[in-house]
Amino acid sequence: MWNVLVAFKVFFLYMILTKRASELTNYLRELKKQNPQLSIGFVPTMGALHNGHLSLIYESIRENDRTVCSIFVNPTQFGEKKDLETYPKPIEQDMQMLMDAGTDILFLPEVDEVYPPDYEHQTFDLNGLDLKIEGEMRPGHFQGVCNVLYRFFEIVEPTRAYFGQKDFQQTVVAKMLVDLMDTDLEIRVMPIAREDHGLAMSSRNRRLPDHARKSANFIYHGLLKIKETAPEIGLQAAIQNMKEDILKRDNAELEYLLAVNANTINEVQNLSDADEIVILTVVKYYDVRLLDNMYI
Ligand code: AMP
Repeated sequence: MWNVLVAFKVFFLYMILTKRASELTNYLRELKKQNPQLSIGFVPTMGALHNGHLSLIYESIRENDRTVCSIFVNPTQFGEKKDLETYPKPIEQDMQMLMDAGTDILFLPEVDEVYPPDYEHQTFDLNGLDLKIEGEMRPGHFQGVCNVLYRFFEIVEPTRAYFGQKDFQQTVVAKMLVDLMDTDLEIRVMPIAREDHGLAMSSRNRRLPDHARKSANFIYHGLLKIKETAPEIGLQAAIQNMKEDILKRDNAELEYLLAVNANTINEVQNLSDADEIVILTVVKYYDVRLLDNMYI
């Protein structure tokens, strides 16, 4: 049953589910043959969906004739085996959320469907971007991301692909990949969806103890404070204040906190160093890696 296109019908809503890459490619090509103007929006995810993912889906539905979402926990982008093995997989809940949101197609492949035995993993020239900041903390991560996106872009042939600003460096890497692939695909970046108290939504938040999930909004408030105070006290002093605040907290460990040029991801020291500056941070809180960032 999983090997064929299956249409789930719930109160006139339906979503096509496929696990087969060739089936998906053929189906979408057939649709495009019938309507050459047809636009396809693509939202790649690793599942354990939340409203942040859904914001990407809604925008894709708004901007395209068809929306394809993939759920695939890509092994090549995980350094730590434990993180891969314990990644949450509430697939039935995810399917219901996607269907309720109005997703047209869910692509749910197994590993060998994405990376067939003869697939040769590629090394993309990302100008060193894959080696710094998040890439330095997670060696091989962005090459893994590029390999999976390369395969998905080949399979789906989307008009637009949707990414969250939450994974800021990934959005820059995705744009570089599209340049390298020399396709017309448009990368769309959506704002960070946050829980009511400010914590950036993430599939990993569910690993936090309840009390820690509540208090983890200190990251968001710290970023806001940098934005507010940097014009007065200077960018580096504002960053230093947030570092000191994190140091004082129990069970919090700072991996990085720095200001970068939003286009190049090169570190900047002063507000005058770039037109668009983003503060990037990762805080390990109760052993959960929490990513966040903010334009200032
Ligand atoms: P993931 O399933 O973590 O690989 O995320 C899939 C996509 O959803 C990526 O483009 C993420 O950047 C995006 N995303 C994750 N969390 C959020 C969020 N809180 N707000 C907006 N987009 C998000």
